[in-house]
Amino acid sequence: MTPLTTGIGPHRLERMFKRFAQLASPGSLGFIGFGLAIFLSTISSNAASAQDKANKSTGSASRSSASDAELARLRADTIEKMKQTRAGTEKLLALHEDEVKKLTAEYRQRQELYNQGLISRAELNQTERARAAAMIRMDEDKRWIAETDIAITEASMRDVLVGLPAMAPGGYSESGTLIRFNGTASWSLADAAKIEKFFSQAFGHVLPITAFGQTPTHDRLRFDHRNAMDVALHPDSNEGRSLLSYLRQAGVPFIAFRSAVPGAATGAHIHIGSPSVRAVAGADSQGVCCKR
Ligand SMILES: [Zn+2]
Repeated sequence: MTPLTTGIGPHRLERMFKRFAQLASPGSLGFIGFGLAIFLSTISSNAASAQDKANKSTGSASRSSASDAELARLRADTIEKMKQTRAGTEKLLALHEDEVKKLTAEYRQRQELYNQGLISRAELNQTERARAAAMIRMDEDKRWIAETDIAITEASMRDVLVGLPAMAPGGYSESGTLIRFNGTASWSLADAAKIEKFFSQAFGHVLPITAFGQTPTHDRLRFDHRNAMDVALHPDSNEGRSLLSYLRQAGVPFIAFRSAVPGAATGAHIHIGSPSVRAVAGADSQGVCCKR
């Protein structure tokens, strides 16, 4: 199992958002418990209000360029902290993978002993539960790394996206790093269920969504990701190509990232919705960045 093929359905998103709340300021932990819908609407209204304030506060060109420079610096700092945390998580993943291997070996030994009547069912179950818990820890590490890679990719590619020529409605373009489609359907996150249904019917597992709307990560990066979602599929994979073809037929806009750096495998994904290049004021960019 790899991060790019691990399914992350909406039913698992709340747990994932809890993990992200651990990365954000302690104050953000409170509202996570109220559920995903409230979480998203809170973030959405906070981000909208922050955007209004940002618009009002940029009265002159010089102030605007100063705030742009400040924003770029904050983003660069946040990305650097995320990369450091990612390196720590890679080490943790290696430990958790070892743990799974050891517990799997132990479980097989105990299964043999149980079959010979030498240990009880309860003793076998104990190892089975420990192994299942270790696998959950390992999968969470992988998902966290995949989501972090995707967020870093979008943040790193922001300047490239801003510099691209405007695309006509219905336009499509493909390069070594990006595939863009300016679909004309009035897309909103409420339509996500249709895409998930198509995907699960076609491939028999859930669409691997890593970010549904605005997340604390986008807040920290000062990105408006309120009406977009990220899918951890390489656009050139079989599943990725099918999804892009479906989105084009449905007129849903997307940007597919082949990778942050040509030739690198990490960070490849499909961003469904308009590009998230617009800035929003972050909640805690100066605060704790990347604790897990
Ligand atoms: Zn995205």
